Amino acid sequence: MENNTNHITKCSDDDLQDGMSAKEMIEKGPGLTYNDFIILPGYIDFAPDQVDLGSRLTRKITLKAPLVSSPMDTVTEADMAIAMALCGGIGIIHHNCLPSYQASEVLKVKKYKHGFIHDPVVLSPNNTVSDVLVLKNKHGFCGIPVTEDGKLGGKLVGMVTSRDIDFLDQDESANTKLDSIMTKLEDLVTAQAGVTLAEANKILEKSKKGKLPIVNAPGCLIALMARTDLKKAKSYPLSSKDNNKQLIVGAAIGTREEDKHRLSLLANAGVDVVVLDSSQGHSIYQVEMIKYIKQNYPNLQIIAGNVVTKRQAKTLIDAGADALRVGMGSGSICITQEVMAVGRAQATAVYKISEFARRFGVPVIADGGVQSVGHIIKALSLGASTVMMGSLLAGTSEAPGEYFFSDGVRLKKYRGMGSIEAMDRKDAMGSAMNRYFHSDSDKLKVAQGVSGSIIDKGSVLRFVPYLQCGIRHSCQDIGVKSLRELRNSMYNGELRFELRSHSAQLEGNVHSLFSYDKRLF
Ligand code: GDP
Ligand code: 5GP
Repeated sequence: MENNTNHITKCSDDDLQDGMSAKEMIEKGPGLTYNDFIILPGYIDFAPDQVDLGSRLTRKITLKAPLVSSPMDTVTEADMAIAMALCGGIGIIHHNCLPSYQASEVLKVKKYKHGFIHDPVVLSPNNTVSDVLVLKNKHGFCGIPVTEDGKLGGKLVGMVTSRDIDFLDQDESANTKLDSIMTKLEDLVTAQAGVTLAEANKILEKSKKGKLPIVNAPGCLIALMARTDLKKAKSYPLSSKDNNKQLIVGAAIGTREEDKHRLSLLANAGVDVVVLDSSQGHSIYQVEMIKYIKQNYPNLQIIAGNVVTKRQAKTLIDAGADALRVGMGSGSICITQEVMAVGRAQATAVYKISEFARRFGVPVIADGGVQSVGHIIKALSLGASTVMMGSLLAGTSEAPGEYFFSDGVRLKKYRGMGSIEAMDRKDAMGSAMNRYFHSDSDKLKVAQGVSGSIIDKGSVLRFVPYLQCGIRHSCQDIGVKSLRELRNSMYNGELRFELRSHSAQLEGNVHSLFSYDKRLF
């Protein structure tokens, strides 16, 4: 019989060893950026859609996609945070605004979808059609339960929905009492207190009604469910949700005394995680703020930073940080390294801090300098659990600000939070953020960022799935089925890297063409 293994080459593992481990690459030589190295391919025996992108944001929060939008006033407000969470990531609402404004943006995200709506808007039979229209204008919904006293906990007597008011003449019926137009209790489908979410979902599905009021034994309203929420859950199965199926959201704060008031508003609005927003987080202010938050809001997760050295990381981990944000001077709009002469090359910073923080179970967010899917995977391959993006998400339809045209190109503004323009926002909004200035004696501002514009990228709801798909394909090329496997193979030395010369970098980009069209998806 023919020996069909004859063709197998004989060589040892050493013969096959190629490239270098992350440790060898980072420990020797100067600080590296993402462009300075490349990852060597592995063995493919699975499809990209089998790759699990689940990763920890903090000690207690795990995301289905390792993607975070940066707390910048041209990147993350409620629309961005909702879109990021729907796609499995998370948005961090910026704090270059009044505390009440920031808290209302958080509330918009938390109110976007629910399992049970535990605090539904309620009216009484004596309220009028115009009251419903006012609420519809304010909140965007008009399916409102009616109780005897107009309060949650009162006896349920009916429900008013768009179907009850759609065809009424608005002028004539403005003062019409709900009692005469609402759908009465006997025509409602309700569920009893104690019903599980899954059971309530089934009742809602079967009833074909838009809302399901939940009542206790005496018939008093204790919660509400919306059919739209079932649809939202179906459309976005990967969304980042809390226990009540509400989207999760983060918010940035500073470390000053007045930030404690901001924090209390954010906590009331239901924020899941706070980011202590500082370009140099190794400070007594962060340590004290972390301790204050842990004492007063023990359930709130804290992301501290930014840090780029192990010593900085140790201080914040010791103080109780639940995650670290890593990066100093690598952001696209950032001039910190140029002006302050302080910072670190981002790939080196991410590796060093991740390798240190993992010993204490603290995940790392690689923040800044991410220009492409390739940079995301490089950050993750060096130990980061998630990646924070500014420029990559700016210019999408969910980013704050209006589009404008310049030379026929559709653009949005994107600016550093340490740019003079962003720091001057104080006049317009009545509040300043202090990421780049720590004392009132800073009369003269020294910019650490610039202000510019960025090209229209369409919706995050299309762009983020493209990023996820790209990460999955990259993991397939590397031969790992999950981000956990990616990190493990980096730490055990199986994942191999190679430095890239300048000409290797040029070769790795498009070249030798007269012109080309770069469409990404
Ligand atoms: P409606 O038919 O006009 O009430 O609106 P939908 O049912 O289509 O959408 C209501 C959305 O708002 C759902 O995603 C709810 O989770 C959310 N929502 C948040 N708070 C409330 C509330 O107090 N009442 C209602 N009806 N919906 C709320
Ligand atoms: P990007 O994704 O655009 O490369 O970087 C975004 C990150 O840059 C933000 O998450 C934040 O950490 C950092 N950043 C934002 N504004 C400024 C600024 O004005 N100066 C500096 N040095 N960094 C900034």
